[in-house]
Amino acid sequence: MSFNETFFQRAQITTPGGVNSPVRAFRSVGGTPRFIKKAEGAYIWDADDKQYIDYIGSWGPAILGHAHPEVIAAVQHAVTQGLSFGAPTEAEILMAEEICKLVPSIEQVRLVSSGTEATMSALRLARGATKRDKIIKFEGCYHGHADSLLVKAGSGLLTFGNPTSSGVPADFTKHTLVLDYNDCAQLESAFQQFGSEIACVIVEPVAGNMNLIKATEAFLQTMRRLCSEHGSILIFDEVMCGFRVALGGAQALFGITPDLTALGKVIGGGLPVAAFGGKAEIMAHLAPLGGVYQAGTLSGNPVAVAAGLTTLKLIQAPDFYTQLSQQTQKLVDGFNRIGTELNIDFCADAIGGMFGIYFCKEVPTSFEQVMQANGELFKRFFHAMLDHGIYLAPSAYEAGFVSACHFDHVIETTINAARESLRQITC
Ligand code: PLP
Repeated sequence: MSFNETFFQRAQITTPGGVNSPVRAFRSVGGTPRFIKKAEGAYIWDADDKQYIDYIGSWGPAILGHAHPEVIAAVQHAVTQGLSFGAPTEAEILMAEEICKLVPSIEQVRLVSSGTEATMSALRLARGATKRDKIIKFEGCYHGHADSLLVKAGSGLLTFGNPTSSGVPADFTKHTLVLDYNDCAQLESAFQQFGSEIACVIVEPVAGNMNLIKATEAFLQTMRRLCSEHGSILIFDEVMCGFRVALGGAQALFGITPDLTALGKVIGGGLPVAAFGGKAEIMAHLAPLGGVYQAGTLSGNPVAVAAGLTTLKLIQAPDFYTQLSQQTQKLVDGFNRIGTELNIDFCADAIGGMFGIYFCKEVPTSFEQVMQANGELFKRFFHAMLDHGIYLAPSAYEAGFVSACHFDHVIETTINAARESLRQITC
């Protein structure tokens, strides 16, 4: 038995499903999850010492590639100064200043430790600031596992065919209106009906939890206008796409200014840092200034902030995003070429350092279209790629991530593996 198999058996004795986050369990693709030993650059190694090119990147944070020497050095230095103080530090000021500089819609920001905390807190803040209860979210968008957001929430939940988690009282979600992504008409009618009761609209401006689906500009502009007209708060959940699709996030790319933004993943450089922030007048409702409570023992943790600050510095290198986008585009162009070459319904799309692969004729633009893609073929493709040493997300409903270490030879190896894999599974 391989180490991966042995570990998986052992893990299931003491950990539910053997994993600490559900998608890691390979349930939707079958087989044994790889237990990872180490990671460097574009590569990871599993417990059996097999090397893979990694397109998960810790589900987004590893934008510089794994174990960037400057990030490691910053963490090593921070560790020597103490692990956690539960008191403010200068590094937290620097981190907040950096975020506010890079994302101009954020005038004030609060650091937390996970994307879930960021969106959950932003939601509470929006409700507290507007004194309204209703919120709008979109089917297939995942905003972490806060109760009122666990409605038709994409990826892990889609994978399990579980539109809503059990354990969430209906009372907690009765104020959550779920609309179709990229559907402007539905937004208009929801606001027509409930406008004065809607605290906020929360959206992934580039959706990455129902595979990659880009929002149309009209969709984002419509929600911006409707929120302004009705005094509702627009929350961009950029936990995944922030600092991933462009330096200033999706809001910079689309030129749309949200009232609040949730960030995570990249801003922690692989350690637990997330944040939410926006207009100072809204942020003033937060404790200790205002009545909306929010707190965290490890918020702004000095070791995590050291990793985050160094990452934010490194992604500002000239042409960083041009190169990241080029490499991602090369990968996607390669996938699309193979689809045509082999005459199969297989295509791909990219934005910045994020990509999607789809077993259908054309790149989907809605949740409904994503659900029509061929999930069975994806499973076989996933395993064939794994055999070829390419580590994709173990779900047809997750976006993929390219890092600054995915150089040309890495992309080429991946494209060749994809050609072989597709030949294997379709012949
Ligand atoms: N929001 C989005 C868009 C995400 O993709 C995720 C996680 O994948 C979250 C929120 C939750 O973040 P975390 O897993 O750090 O709680």
